[in-house]
Amino acid sequence: KLQVTHLNAYFGDLHVIRDITLGVPAEKVTAIIGPSGCGKSTFLRCLNRMHEHVPGARAKGEVLLDGVDVYHPSVNPVRLRRRVGMVFQKPNPFPTMSIRDNVLAGHRLNGTHIDAPGELVEHCLRQVALWDEVKDRLDQPGIALSSGQQQRLCIARVLAVEPDVVLLDEPCSALDPIATAHIEELIEELKDRYTLLLVTHNLQQAARVSDYMAFFYMGNLVEFDRTDVIFTNPKESRTEDYVTGKF
Ligand code: ATP
Ligand code: MG
Repeated sequence: KLQVTHLNAYFGDLHVIRDITLGVPAEKVTAIIGPSGCGKSTFLRCLNRMHEHVPGARAKGEVLLDGVDVYHPSVNPVRLRRRVGMVFQKPNPFPTMSIRDNVLAGHRLNGTHIDAPGELVEHCLRQVALWDEVKDRLDQPGIALSSGQQQRLCIARVLAVEPDVVLLDEPCSALDPIATAHIEELIEELKDRYTLLLVTHNLQQAARVSDYMAFFYMGNLVEFDRTDVIFTNPKESRTEDYVTGKF
């Protein structure tokens, strides 16, 4: 469903994604790991074309989503970002919007009609296990929630537009262990329905929730395999050094 072929990305002359080819397993969790600065966030941003909004940035190669190159001129980047949603390290609900409107924000920004907004809000908030906590306060601003709740709200906002792929860029790094456990449970539940890419520095987290892992090093995809293989029988010494903490 999502096939990346010979992807290269640059910031000016800096070549930060180096000829990456990766078939992302559909309806699984793929963890992307690797040292700081190796290109994980840039890689995610290339998949939904957010990369091109960074001044001086460009990308080349193919990102096929159901066989269509997302870089083809006929592809509308706004529509693409509904199919390939993204969640960031720091929860970023729209600060002036209510919890309800945050869930609906993806639709509102795209000007799409919603038949039953109340039902959609409930459905999405239930999916992220936030409904019972917020059902009596949907008019409060999104930022009135705890960080972990805010992050679940941001995930609900992505799910509300029915994406195919969800990109999670260190979604738990600003959260405490309990909120992190909630997000991990949520990722487990979502993986049957969505293709998930999870950037994480937390190898235990990758071990717990991912089915596959991709190890990046200096813009290169060094190794991609099933999570158990990456931990128990990696082929590359760099991968082994990284997962065993010898790095
Ligand atoms: P981290 O784990 O610290 O989040 P990362 O693997 O996500 O790191 P990226 O943020 O993708 O790494 O950065 C990859 C490379 O691109 C780095 O060398 C970084 O300095 C460079 N880079 C990132 N953003 C920009 C930018 N806006 N302008 C110029 N260079 C950038
Ligand atoms: Mg990053």
